[in-house]
Amino acid sequence: MISPPRPNAYRDSWSGDLDAARAGQDVRVAGWVHRRRDHGGLIFIDLRDRSGLVQLVFHPETSGPAFALAERLRSEHVISAAGTVVRREEGNVNPNLATGEIEITITGLDVLAESETPPFPIDEDTPVDETLRLKYRWLDLRRQGMLDAMLARTLVTRTMRRVLDERDFLELETPILTKSTPEGARDFLVPSRLSAGSWYALPQSPQLFKQLFMMAGYERYYQIARCFRDEDLRADRQPEFTQLDLEMGFVVEDDVIEVMEAVMSAVFEATGFEAPPAPWPRMTYDEAVARFGIDRPDTRFGLEIRDVSEHVRGSDFKVFESVLGAGGVVRALNAGKRELSRSELDGLNDVVRIHGAKAVAPIYLGADAGWAGNLAKFFSAEQIAAVNAELEAGAGDLLLFVADAPHVAAASLGGLRLELGQRFGLIPEGGHDVLWIVDFPMFERDESEPARPRWAAIHHPFTAPAGDLADPANLLSRAYDLVVDGVEVGGGSIRIHTPEVQRQVFDLLGLDGDEAREQFGFLLDALQYGAPPHGGIAMGIDRIVALICGLESIRDVIAFPKTASGADPLTGAPAPVGSRQLRDLALRSLVEPAPPAT
Ligand code: ASP
Repeated sequence: MISPPRPNAYRDSWSGDLDAARAGQDVRVAGWVHRRRDHGGLIFIDLRDRSGLVQLVFHPETSGPAFALAERLRSEHVISAAGTVVRREEGNVNPNLATGEIEITITGLDVLAESETPPFPIDEDTPVDETLRLKYRWLDLRRQGMLDAMLARTLVTRTMRRVLDERDFLELETPILTKSTPEGARDFLVPSRLSAGSWYALPQSPQLFKQLFMMAGYERYYQIARCFRDEDLRADRQPEFTQLDLEMGFVVEDDVIEVMEAVMSAVFEATGFEAPPAPWPRMTYDEAVARFGIDRPDTRFGLEIRDVSEHVRGSDFKVFESVLGAGGVVRALNAGKRELSRSELDGLNDVVRIHGAKAVAPIYLGADAGWAGNLAKFFSAEQIAAVNAELEAGAGDLLLFVADAPHVAAASLGGLRLELGQRFGLIPEGGHDVLWIVDFPMFERDESEPARPRWAAIHHPFTAPAGDLADPANLLSRAYDLVVDGVEVGGGSIRIHTPEVQRQVFDLLGLDGDEAREQFGFLLDALQYGAPPHGGIAMGIDRIVALICGLESIRDVIAFPKTASGADPLTGAPAPVGSRQLRDLALRSLVEPAPPAT
């Protein structure tokens, strides 16, 4: 329900709000011609506005000049119509329409604007080519699916604001034209005219500014913030996206987690997303990777991964032995009682190859729980029994093994698990799972420049370490991620709040003193002036709305998104600019502009 409109020349009621209680009243409604039907001399129009649909009826005798006007109405014309609400006859009630018990007998009609024939139907939920939808986004947004997504989006942000306002958070903005705020992606750059040759970067997140707010003493901050990251796009990535960004002073992990559980519980409740009640379980990164092969596990189904290295060590199977000898692992999952054809089994190799493994070794259990097939002969009876016990395997089960470096085996089986979970229909409809992942490693090895090996931050360079920096390889960070149904919907951390630790971390990341000063001098300065312990989190609003709406692609919950190649078919962005504009910016293009993107 939308609050009633202020009566004016166009409307005094919303179409979708009319019901039998209003029978006999004169009303005026306005909107778009959703559908038009001619029937036995009568003209029926479904009128659509933001609130819904209502049926207008034009009679040749009683509608006066409006009838002749109605004969010329086409889909998507914009009208304002006046008439009387009447109950429909018993047989004409439309149970599929909220206003299906009534219709409006029209006595006056104003045609406010005409529409060309739309390039795709607005009144049907038919699949339409996405580029066409994006080119005509204003029409696409008229369709019910998009309206539902936009309503869900509003409900999500409104609920977030409500909970945070109740807890006295300050809603503050941070700059869009700024200096690099690294989150591990490439920056979008904006040339400066006034300082020719210098550039602003668009923020990958408000990270540094929200930390400065904490140092300023604005202890609870949030913002519904736009972030910009120049990276390769996927269904769940856009070059600009929206997050709920939040930071708190004098907090530890539990404080931030508690606030976010309150926010997200309210969001789930408001949108009817059936999540288990908070507090949500916490799983360590190591456990997630070991059991599910990934740090954002979909825990709604089993098919868990087990390490069987020690059970198979010493077998006659050369492939496993050489991997184990080289410090690798053998891991496996029990796919259950499945009959996969040879070609289906071969197809599984393609799944694991994406993650760097060479192949899957499949083994079926015979009726006696012995191993069938030609791999069986390489293993002793004890080895087979131990693996079966580890995988809780019984007669008829299909076991799938991957032997590789630990991270490759994990990712490969993780990918395989998701693929099989979907293929076998193991993911329950409607059930949802929410959990925190904690105890992330602080660093990973960055081998991108072999001459200059260094550490890279797993979260971002401002995340506090959970221990001593002397042992970076085994150090955990104070980061946490929230995962819903296998989707990382948010993440944050307790931050570094002393200049010494921040400098040591920059050092490990391969930033020498000068580089660190040049890039983050203002942060290092701020840390010299009394920074409180602080921490925060950011939640991906696009992903959250997509999950709630049951949609795969975040493009379907963003009003004006870019295509997978970063183009906007509506405006034609990105587009070349004139030489004059470039001259003003003291720039010259080294390449011919690409033809306009579609
Ligand atoms: N700035 C981080 C991000 O955008 C979130 C955080 O650490 O609060 O992913």
